[in-house]
Amino acid sequence: MINLDRLGFRFTQEQRLVGSTARDFAQRQLAPGAGERDRLARYPLEHLSQLAELGLLAMKVPTEEGGAGADNVGYALAMEATAEACASTAVVLASSNLATRILSDHASPEQKERWLRPYTQGRLGPASFALSEPGCGSDAAALTTRATLDGHGWILEGQKQWITSGAQAGIHVVFARTDGPGREGISCFVVERGAAGLTIGPEEDKMGQRASGTVGLFFDGCRIPAHSLIGPRGGGYRIALSALGAGRVGIAALSLGLGEAALAEGVRYAQERKAFGQLLSEFQNTRFVLADCRVELDAAWLLTLRAAALLDQGDRASAETSIAKLFASEAAGRVVDKMVQLHGGTGYSRASTVERLYRDARVTRIYEGTSEVQRLVIARAVLAEG
Ligand SMILES: Cc1cc2nc3c(=O)[nH]c(=O)nc-3n(C[C@H](O)[C@H](O)[C@H](O)COP(=O)(O)OP(=O)(O)OC[C@H]3O[C@@H](n4cnc5c(N)ncnc54)[C@H](O)[C@@H]3O)c2cc1C
Repeated sequence: MINLDRLGFRFTQEQRLVGSTARDFAQRQLAPGAGERDRLARYPLEHLSQLAELGLLAMKVPTEEGGAGADNVGYALAMEATAEACASTAVVLASSNLATRILSDHASPEQKERWLRPYTQGRLGPASFALSEPGCGSDAAALTTRATLDGHGWILEGQKQWITSGAQAGIHVVFARTDGPGREGISCFVVERGAAGLTIGPEEDKMGQRASGTVGLFFDGCRIPAHSLIGPRGGGYRIALSALGAGRVGIAALSLGLGEAALAEGVRYAQERKAFGQLLSEFQNTRFVLADCRVELDAAWLLTLRAAALLDQGDRASAETSIAKLFASEAAGRVVDKMVQLHGGTGYSRASTVERLYRDARVTRIYEGTSEVQRLVIARAVLAEG
């Protein structure tokens, strides 16, 4: 957790609580097995009920709806703490929190009773957020999965790709085209695990974050009830975009956690390893590298907290969330790279933690909006200012 005491900035008690709850759990339960889960590509199933009990699967859902009631700053602290121990678990939290925040913000009271309440009680496992398709990721408005109203229900046809926790999720928040082309033709649905006509694809064999599951969802005449529509018909794209805006703060914080973990590994190694008769930490180059990493991560922290605080004030903060996600994910990439270098050959070994962190960090520049897409959002704001 960044120390802002000298600025006079104080985290609230609630923010500290959600951050420290996540940190305690992550350090006790997630950190010890993170390397093994990565090697085995084993989903952190054993931790799901505890994550749900602690409210971490629905952090931003209000307490009266069964969530942890965290604001965006608290969410960022919890995501950072989780990723510092296990980035795979952090991305499971990120996608579950995206999906449940949508239900909390847009579902009717009956829909919340049906899906959100049992979910927050840990009875449904994680939730998935299914927007990307084989033919479109960045250009999500081009999605082609169709939902057609037929009698009393909807019939889904199409395919989703890269869906985090898709094989384990009890509920999927799915975006599909109900009407004409473009953004206005997209609607949001809940599809329950086991729905007839829904097939789950095989797990992707990924470079990093290997303990998180990532699959395709195949809808072949998948029939869901009429009450599965979340929010207004044609409102799906706006729902997805607003969730992803806040989600970017989570990925910025996840990146920070990875960077902090790598820096801690580097500091430890530099104080143990000797070359030419002295500790690595005594070389001026090592000190400069460690200093640069601290500067990168502090800058990323401040940008992340700015974006989170603006969201908490009700600002859309679309440029600020993109700036935070872009900078934090790219800073994490630079930090993990430098820490592998600092470890020499050891850093290239599968046995070292920095090797896992290096692989885990790469995807933060890709999912929930690539670096290029963040730059497009930021450039739009820069040009509008001019
Ligand atoms: C591990 C993992 C987990 C994921 N989890 C989920 C999930 O849970 N739910 C979900 O819906 N999706 C998920 N995704 C999908 C992810 O959000 C997309 O991969 C991402 O948005 C990029 O889309 P794409 O892969 O189709 O790449 P493309 O959109 O095809 O982009 C390819 C390249 O072109 C660049 N590009 C595209 N458009 C432009 C432009 N206008 N200007 C400049 N450059 C451009 C991109 O930046 C990128 O470098 C996940 C992906 C991964 C890898």
